[in-house]
Amino acid sequence: TAKMVGRACYRIYSAADTERGRHRQRLSEALIASLKTAPGEFSVVYQPQYHLATGKVAGLEALLRWNHPEFGPVSPGDFVAIAEQRSHIHELTEHLVRCVLSDLSTHADKLPKGLGLAINISARQITDSRLEALLAPLFERIRSVGWVPEVEITETHLMNLSRQCLNRLREFGEQGVVVAIDDFGTGYSSLAYLHALPVQVLKIDRQFIWRLGGKSRDPRIVSAILGIAEALDLEVVAEGIETEDQHNRLRELKCHRGQGFLMARPAPWQELISLFID
Ligand code: C2E
Ligand code: MG
Ligand code: MG
Ligand code: MG
Repeated sequence: TAKMVGRACYRIYSAADTERGRHRQRLSEALIASLKTAPGEFSVVYQPQYHLATGKVAGLEALLRWNHPEFGPVSPGDFVAIAEQRSHIHELTEHLVRCVLSDLSTHADKLPKGLGLAINISARQITDSRLEALLAPLFERIRSVGWVPEVEITETHLMNLSRQCLNRLREFGEQGVVVAIDDFGTGYSSLAYLHALPVQVLKIDRQFIWRLGGKSRDPRIVSAILGIAEALDLEVVAEGIETEDQHNRLRELKCHRGQGFLMARPAPWQELISLFID
């Protein structure tokens, strides 16, 4: 079958495309059903973030997991996109909030005070009128264990920022919630616009961290981002640090914080706690 894409451009779909489409459709139906009826399929893992200068833990990023009995663990890249398309991102965040609240109710006192606890928010839900009520209890709990709530928003979706959206980001700021731009460098932020955004943190996308090491050893983009951040008084987090080489280079470049498989993989709450009490 051929389908019109844009004006006069045809794309021919193969049998494999059709199969992929069917799989995606089944996955999509399963996600919507699970969001409604199977809370046990959702869980959260936490990846520590470190101060690169000292090696001390700086915070945790909460990452949602979905394990379906038939499909197995589904990548968040896939299920977040489906939830966005099917307008179920609010329900997804409800599960995240429920899981984090439950995790924080045990052993949070075993971890240092002053940590950041970051959650990922889809830019499409920033202006959702239900968001504030959903996140308020979570922010409150995070503060009550002596930590700082953080919200990460992916840069690619930030380009069509409305006034409403900017206001919501400002409200986060007023409530003492740190706002970070995720996957920085992959989207369309202009300098003028970054200056106007009420954000405090840039998270450099891991493709630029990869380029630091290996054959290319290209520090230019990371250096440029650190320069922009310094001019705008923002903190920088490097994500996806996998090698000692990348780690060393980031320290030389005076990048503030980092996270990656080299230091720690995302782990369930109980496992994370045991990392700190051993
Ligand atoms: P992200 O926010 O940029 O999260 C970082 C991703 O990089 C995570 O993938 C993490 O496991 C992975 N990662 C961390 N260190 C390394 C490393 O050293 N090497 C490599 N190769 N990967 C590393 P994950 O958990 O699969 O999440 C993918 C994306 O899904 C996230 O990207 C985030 O945009 C989205 N996501 C995850 N949880 C949620 C959620 O609760 N809500 C929303 N809206 N999006 C979420
Ligand atoms: Mg993130
Ligand atoms: Mg990221
Ligand atoms: Mg990323």
